[in-house]
Amino acid sequence: MSMYERKNELKVVIVGGGVAGLSLANMLEKASINYSLLEAHPDLASQVGASIALLPNGLRCYHHLEEASESIRHKLNLRGQEGKILSRGSNLTFSAQLEKRLGYPQIFTERQQLLRILHNNLKDKSCCVTNKRVVRLELCQDRVQVHSEDGSLYEGDVVVGADGTHSIVREQMLRLIPKSILKTPDISPISADVRCMFGISENVESLLRDSEDMITYPGRSYLIISGPGHRTYWFLFESLNKAIRGTSLPRYSEEDEIRMVKRYASDHVGSSTTFQDVYQHRVKSVLVPIEEFVSTRWSYDRIITIGDSAHKIDPISGQGGNNAIEDAATLVNSLTRWLSSHHSREESIATILSTVQACRINRMRQLAKEAHLLQSILTQKAIASQIVSKYFLPALGIDNILLRRINAICVEAPHINMLPIPAKQRSTPFNDELSSRLKNNQRLRQSTWNLFIGFMVICCYSLMFHHSPFFGNILS
Ligand SMILES: Cc1cc2nc3c(=O)[nH]c(=O)nc-3n(C[C@H](O)[C@H](O)[C@H](O)COP(=O)(O)OP(=O)(O)OC[C@H]3O[C@@H](n4cnc5c(N)ncnc54)[C@H](O)[C@@H]3O)c2cc1C
Repeated sequence: MSMYERKNELKVVIVGGGVAGLSLANMLEKASINYSLLEAHPDLASQVGASIALLPNGLRCYHHLEEASESIRHKLNLRGQEGKILSRGSNLTFSAQLEKRLGYPQIFTERQQLLRILHNNLKDKSCCVTNKRVVRLELCQDRVQVHSEDGSLYEGDVVVGADGTHSIVREQMLRLIPKSILKTPDISPISADVRCMFGISENVESLLRDSEDMITYPGRSYLIISGPGHRTYWFLFESLNKAIRGTSLPRYSEEDEIRMVKRYASDHVGSSTTFQDVYQHRVKSVLVPIEEFVSTRWSYDRIITIGDSAHKIDPISGQGGNNAIEDAATLVNSLTRWLSSHHSREESIATILSTVQACRINRMRQLAKEAHLLQSILTQKAIASQIVSKYFLPALGIDNILLRRINAICVEAPHINMLPIPAKQRSTPFNDELSSRLKNNQRLRQSTWNLFIGFMVICCYSLMFHHSPFFGNILS
């Protein structure tokens, strides 16, 4: 059987039309693999007030986004109380520095805009169906059945849960795993020890137009980013007194939001701008707990989870969505490899799907820990974090530290194997473009730097005997 016929044989059902689901839909279309995408909401790109940074690792998997998005080149500054600059970004913008190294910039856009681009880019939009809330999965001998709330039934060879943190696909997958196989850690607890108010404001005149500012205060931090069209994307992270877990994760009301704004209204987020100034000009805002988990079980039989349904990391590192795109690329690579392999019959779909977790889980665990650590530092959770954020980060330069770390994260990114890698001028190649000798050299250089940074930070934390349920693992 030719590869073309095999492709026509395979049918994928994607549950969820967020970053993960729509990225996967685009990649499957490019690979000529049949799919249906089911989205619970009536609209594929609703405005929830969220912005998203696309980084070179996400853009590499999906490079046409770069041309499609309006992009502002930012300088990255770190500010302390009174909005005083602790570390000023270098003259070359952060985005330009990334582009020089890796060939791709950093782009901030609205999540709604990103989803629109992904949807518009699909040639056959009839594969995406809205108002389909999936409620149940059933495994049959050679296919999987997907039931939606309105009684409709979809069938496929593979079902992909791209349905976010509280994934029904993950829940149904765990229900279908025989008790004898299911291990306790498969039911990974979701925890949160930070909450975040985020939003989009317009015409905050006193803010600089080309800046991305991280502002650190005891117990809280801000990220303020200038966006296209005189918009400002902003985030206020507040450290919770006690970590919350699993089912007790709260939903916050408008009153909670107002109380939080009152508490921090006078915080300076720029040299002459307070949080109140930014909030007053909001178009949309929302307060949510920052949920964190990395699932220990991403797939079973013909079912797989990707994106936030498999891992949810603190957004401060800007890696959640970019890694949802990486998950989709890894899954498509596994499927196309299987379809083109002469030995495909010997490898079951379940095995193919399990390779995605094997490729990705260590990276996601590492990224989750790093994002958590960065957040603990910026929200000055312990006195040690105050030392790190006030002295250590300014001394080394916030953009220097983040640039090196983002660089190291990005070079590990996959690309879509069936598509050519675009020729880009850059100083640092991605790992999969290197021979193994050069790869080892690059890793060695990076590890030395990581060891130095890690050592300094861990020393500070160890000195303070800082503990948190999530962070504890890093120190142990
Ligand atoms: C404040 C904040 C800032 C962030 N900033 C960044 C950033 O700068 N860079 C970055 O890379 N990441 C960022 N992230 C993370 C990023 O937004 C997420 O990792 C990413 O959106 C995950 O995409 P997803 O498709 O996996 O899940 P989601 O975006 O949650 O999409 C899931 C989709 O599934 C649908 N769905 C749910 N249940 C069902 C069902 N039963 N049936 C059918 N459909 C269903 C939902 O309606 C939704 O459309 C941020 C996150 C937050 C909270």
